[in-house]
Amino acid sequence: MAEKAVKSGETVVIATKNAGKVKEFDHALRKLGKAAASLLDYPQIPDIVEDGDTFAANARIKAKTAGDALGVKVLADDSGLRVEALNGEPGVYSARYAGEGATDAENNAKLIAELNRLKEEGRLKPLGVLEDGSAMLSGAQFVCALALYDPATGHFVEAEGTVGGLITDRPHGSGGFGYDPHFWLPQLKRGMAELTKEEKQQISHRGDALGKLLPLFQDA
Ligand code: IMP
Repeated sequence: MAEKAVKSGETVVIATKNAGKVKEFDHALRKLGKAAASLLDYPQIPDIVEDGDTFAANARIKAKTAGDALGVKVLADDSGLRVEALNGEPGVYSARYAGEGATDAENNAKLIAELNRLKEEGRLKPLGVLEDGSAMLSGAQFVCALALYDPATGHFVEAEGTVGGLITDRPHGSGGFGYDPHFWLPQLKRGMAELTKEEKQQISHRGDALGKLLPLFQDA
């Protein structure tokens, strides 16, 4: 890791170990002539306990913990999926829905199993069927809270972004990460995991939040 580039702000440290998120931030920052580093580059920073009740609170916890430890500005993202038929779950527990350390595949399997269980119990009526036969099980929303923290001033700059879609019982595409394969975008008639990085940035919760934060970022 080039410390000089981090200190000058050319490389922005993202308080995450999620490689999928890092790729998306790096893609967005490159357009500003910057690059992304992550906590994978700083193994000395222990795992951060995310015990906030909201995405915004967790983003602030991550940005402050890493920023104070490293002595440089740090950007944190806390994000997740709210599913209508599950009363907003998994929400802030999205990363560990199937248990601590769960893989994306395990979390997706649990999500679809929960929705299918509600369907079998007659408590969920699918919203329709796509051309390939997959059922649209519930409305859903991805949410992303961003916090940029400056340890020199103790100040945060914050933004939140969302995108709405539908959860399908069958996966579509192999791009992205997390719940992307089961997140259908009716307006595009494509799944989130079928989009290129550029297309995902245009439409996603993270792209939405970054679009709001980046103008503030330049002066932060
Ligand atoms: P965090 O690292 O605590 O913010 O957890 C975020 C979790 O939410 C991830 O592990 C994914 O399961 C889910 N998530 C957040 N953003 C996305 C996305 O862009 N696509 C799919 N899943 C996402």
